[in-house]
Amino acid sequence: MKKMLCLVLTLLLALLSFAALAEEAPRPILIGGAMDLETADMMQALEDAQTQVINGYTYVSGKLDGYPVVVVKTQVGMVNAAASTTTGIMTFNPIAVINQGTAGGHDEALHKGDIVIGATTVNINAFKSDWSDKGAGIDPTKWIWMTTEVLQDGEVKEVSSLSSDPALVEIAKSVPYAKGTLVEGVIGSGDVWNKELDRIGLIHSQFNTSCEEMETFAVAQVCAYTGTPFLGIRILSNNELHQESFDPQTGADCQAYVLDVARAMIKSY
Ligand code: SAH
Repeated sequence: MKKMLCLVLTLLLALLSFAALAEEAPRPILIGGAMDLETADMMQALEDAQTQVINGYTYVSGKLDGYPVVVVKTQVGMVNAAASTTTGIMTFNPIAVINQGTAGGHDEALHKGDIVIGATTVNINAFKSDWSDKGAGIDPTKWIWMTTEVLQDGEVKEVSSLSSDPALVEIAKSVPYAKGTLVEGVIGSGDVWNKELDRIGLIHSQFNTSCEEMETFAVAQVCAYTGTPFLGIRILSNNELHQESFDPQTGADCQAYVLDVARAMIKSY
C-alpha cells in the first residue's frame, strides 16, 4: 500500500514538473522570407535544426543563442505570405513575427543595400475607379485608394496602414548595420513590381512609401488578427530611381542584419 502511494506521488510530481516545464517553454520567434536568397542563411544559422513541410510551406525550427526560432519560406506574393504565416502562427504559437527580404526603392534618398525598418506598411494593391466610357482610356492617376478590412479583436476595421510593434522597431533601430543606411519608413506591398518611374512616383506621393515589395502588408494583417507582435524589415535590392538593378547579395545582407535583430530581441525576453 505504502509502495503504491509512493509510486502515485512520484508520478504526480513528475507530471507536475513536466507541466511546469511545458508552460515555461519559450515561444519561438517566427521569421519569414519569400525566396531561398532571403531565407537560406538564416535556416543554416539555426542550431539543432529540424525541417517540416506544413501545408506545402517549409519551416525550419532550431535555436539561435539557445532560444527557439522558426524560419519559414513564405513563397512570393500576398496570399502565400498570409497563408504561410497563418499556418506558422497556428503551428508554432510565436512570441513575435518578423517578415523580411528584398524590395525596390521608392525614395530617392535610398540606395541598393539600405535597410528600411517598416514602422508602417500599406497595401498598394487596393484601388477602385469611377465609371468611364468604353474607349475613354485608362488613367491610374485617377484610381481611388481603398482601405483594407482587417479583423482585429473580433471586429472588422477599415485600415489604411498597419504598424510594426513599436518596441520591436526600437530594438531593430538599435542594431548596427554596416552595409548601408538604416532608416525607419513605410513599406508598400502588393502583387506588383513597378519599373515605371511615374508609377513609382505616384505611389510614393500617395503613400510616402520608402520601398515596394510583395509580402509585408499581408503578414502584418495576419499578425493583427491573431494579436501577434509584428516587425517588417526590407533591404533595397534594386532602386529604379537610380537605375540600380536587382542584386541578390542584398538578400544575404538582410538576413545577417535580421539575425542580429532576433538576437537583440532574444536578449530582451
Ligand atoms: N514572379 C515575379 C517576381 C518574383 S521576385 C517575376 O517573375 O518577375 C519578387 C520578390 O522580390 C518578392 O518576394 C518581393 O517581395 C521582392 N521584391 C524585390 N524588389 C521588388 C520590387 N521592386 N517590386 C516588387 N517586389 C520586389
